[in-house]
Amino acid sequence: MFETTIAGSLPKPGWLAETGKLWPRWRLEGEALARAKLDATLLWIKEQEDAGIDMVTDGEQSRQHFVHGFLEQVAGIDFDRKVELGIRANRYKALVPTVVGPLRLEGRVHAAEARLARARTRRKLKFTLPGPMTIVDTIADRHYGDRAKLAMAFAELLNEEARALAADGVDMVQFDEPAFNVYTDDVKRWGIAALERAAAGLACRTGVHICYGYGIQANLDWKATLGAEWRQYEAVFPALAASRIDAVSVECIHSRVPMRLLALLAGKDVMLGVIDVASDRVETPEEVAGVIAAATEFVPKARILPCTNCGMAPMDRGVAGAKLAALADGARLARERLA
Ligand code: ZN
Repeated sequence: MFETTIAGSLPKPGWLAETGKLWPRWRLEGEALARAKLDATLLWIKEQEDAGIDMVTDGEQSRQHFVHGFLEQVAGIDFDRKVELGIRANRYKALVPTVVGPLRLEGRVHAAEARLARARTRRKLKFTLPGPMTIVDTIADRHYGDRAKLAMAFAELLNEEARALAADGVDMVQFDEPAFNVYTDDVKRWGIAALERAAAGLACRTGVHICYGYGIQANLDWKATLGAEWRQYEAVFPALAASRIDAVSVECIHSRVPMRLLALLAGKDVMLGVIDVASDRVETPEEVAGVIAAATEFVPKARILPCTNCGMAPMDRGVAGAKLAALADGARLARERLA
C-alpha cells in the first residue's frame, strides 16, 4: 500500500551539467560525458533507495531535456535549424529543432542508462519518455503539416523504444504529457490515440504524467490565471479512464485541483503528487500523509502511489534529496495510520 515513486527527473550534479536550468549545458563531452551520465544515474539510484523510494527512476541524468533527449536519436529532425516557438499554447518560448523529413529511430535511445539502472537496483524501475502530444508541442514542423499525423509518427518511434525498455527489464514506462492539460480538446481527438499507440503491446505497466509544469515563472504566472479550481483534469480524465493506460501521474499538493476529480480515474492507479516541485520548502511527513489521506476518499488505497508533482530537474540537489525523504517518510506515516 502507498508504494512511492517520483515523476521522473532529478537535478544533475554540478560536475555533469549546469545546475538550476531546464536546458543545461553538459560539462563534459565524448566518452567522459557518457561515463559521467551513468555515474550520476548510479548516484541517484542510491539516493532514492536510501530515502526509501519504492519504484525508482534513472533521474533522467542522461538527457539534456525531457523532450529533446529523445529527439537526439531521431532521423528527420534538423537540430541546426532551431526556431523560437511559443509552446504550451504560447505560455513560454523555447528554442526548438525542426522536423524536415520522415521520422525514423536511428537506434536505441536509453539503453545504457536503463540497463545500468536495472543491473544496479532490485527496486522496481520506472522509465520516462516524452508523450507524443508534448513532443509535437515542443518541435517545429516543416514536413508533416498536421499535428495529429506528426504525433502518430512520433508514437511509432516511442513504441519502438518503449518495447526495448520493457525488454531491458523496466517495470513501468511512463509517458510525460504536460500538453494534455493545455489542449484538452485535442487530447480527446487524437492525443489519447497517439498515447495508446506509443504504449501498445508493452510487456510492463504503462503510465502517463500530466502536470502543470516545472516551477518556472511562466508556469507560476499561468497557474495564477486558472481560477479558484483547476478543472483541466476533468476534461481529460474520463477519456483516460477508458484508455488502456494503467496509471496516471497527477499534480496534487499545493495545486487547486479539486481532489474529487481523482474519482474520474476509476480503474487506474494514481501516482499522486504529494511533493511540490515549485517550492524549495521541504514538505513534512505530516503534510504528505495528509494529502494521501484526502485522496483515499476518492481513490482505493491500493491504487495510490505517492509521487512528486512533476520532475525535480531544475531544483537544488540538497533540496531534492530532502524531498525524496519527505515523500518516503510521509507515505510510511500514511501506511501506519490508514492500514
Ligand atoms: Zn511534469
